[in-house]
Amino acid sequence: MTCKAYVNLQNIINDIPDNIKIVAVSKNRTVETIQQLYNSGHNIFGENRAQEFISKAPDLPIDIEWHFIGHLQTNKVKMIMPYVSVVHSVDSFKLLKEINKQARKSEKTIKCLLQFHIAQEESKYGLSLKEANEIIDKLVEVKLNNILIIGVMGMATFTKDCEVVSKEFRTLKDIFHTLKNTYFSGDENFREISMGMSDDYKIAIKEGATIIRIGSCIFDNAIQ
Ligand SMILES: *Cc1c(COP(=O)(O)O)cnc(C)c1O
Repeated sequence: MTCKAYVNLQNIINDIPDNIKIVAVSKNRTVETIQQLYNSGHNIFGENRAQEFISKAPDLPIDIEWHFIGHLQTNKVKMIMPYVSVVHSVDSFKLLKEINKQARKSEKTIKCLLQFHIAQEESKYGLSLKEANEIIDKLVEVKLNNILIIGVMGMATFTKDCEVVSKEFRTLKDIFHTLKNTYFSGDENFREISMGMSDDYKIAIKEGATIIRIGSCIFDNAIQ
């Protein structure tokens, strides 16, 4: 059975290179809606709030690859641990240590992306390159064996000005390459650039995204 969301997803897939991973952002969507898209053949989903995530995940198939994409408080790491595979929003060493601790207890390895502040807006979370350097320097000293740093994530300014958005995505790509060259040159796990949402994924792909996070273009009925 093919659902509307799957048709929308296929339209996106047909339009982009096939090495791009799509996280279907299912925040504000019901278990039934998520289950339908899963049944059609997609199993990578993203949630941005811990409480909502754990209210839905237990009722959905265990082989869903769940990505946590929103701001994550340290005290909420434990509750998402049974379900989560990838955390896109790491913005402190403290959070990384807690993810490692809970992952170890659950005998899991959690893939993590460092979230960077690339937008002009004050409200968006994320690290500066300097802060990221400090975190990675600590990681070299304190080995955390149950996390794997796989790349970087960022959100562009909410604007119709494509030049602004392009420039911010380019900044994230430059950060990725700087970190790659400085710390991860021999590490093939460090390879992901998570950027691009419904309104700007085409620009993000042009600027080097490897993972895009799409909600409304998949789940809303509006055809792009
Ligand atoms: C909601 C959300 C998305 C998806 O947004 P859409 O505009 O619906 O595609 C992507 N990333 C994050 C972090 C989000 O919170």
